[in-house]
Amino acid sequence: MKTVTHKVLPSSVFLIGLGAGLWIPDTDLILLPVLHHRSIVTHSILIPWLLSLTAGGRVPLSTVAGLYGGIAIHLAADATSATVGFGMVWLPWPIKTALGAFSPVWLLGNAAAAVWLMFRIQPGFRIWMVAAAVAVAGAYATLNEFAFAPFILFGLIIFGVSWVKLRRERRAGCRRDDSAVKRGREGGLAGQKGGRGYGLLNPKERCKHFFVGGQPVPQTVPQSSI
Ligand SMILES: [Zn+2]
Repeated sequence: MKTVTHKVLPSSVFLIGLGAGLWIPDTDLILLPVLHHRSIVTHSILIPWLLSLTAGGRVPLSTVAGLYGGIAIHLAADATSATVGFGMVWLPWPIKTALGAFSPVWLLGNAAAAVWLMFRIQPGFRIWMVAAAVAVAGAYATLNEFAFAPFILFGLIIFGVSWVKLRRERRAGCRRDDSAVKRGREGGLAGQKGGRGYGLLNPKERCKHFFVGGQPVPQTVPQSSI
């Protein structure tokens, strides 16, 4: 039962979010009188961000994480098109002006931010999330965009963001470090390099930046070492 609630359920709702996120940006087509196609409103992190603020627990965080991932895949694909007409990002009515050459910068910036927020919202099973997102990006690029460039671009974004995030988390001591915990059990001192709790000391404070609610990666610190 624990596996169902801790792994299967978040994974499935993450996948639902991932699938839905792929199509959210192009919902601007329904609102064409107000939003030009490739609208800045939908081609951004705005919708999942508002959802995470207002849903108040009704939408699972894993779904919001999936939405961020799906939107990132879509935006990375859109960033590969030429910056003319619908290829540009447009401001809503009454301005309805295009961002012009700045459009790909906007799309890539938001794609990277979306991936960052996906990891932040769903700190667990990160490798699984990367694998699922990369697989979906591959399918989206080949079946919907008939091109390989969107897949490459999304791959670069997700690996780039993961690398930066991992480095920063390691430095802040917010990631699980099995070897340090293990050495700690063998008698190291809290807070010392290689000692018990190294990198995990007062993780709430330091990890606020990385995880929703300032929670460190769970189940990493044995009770005795807190
Ligand atoms: Zn689009």
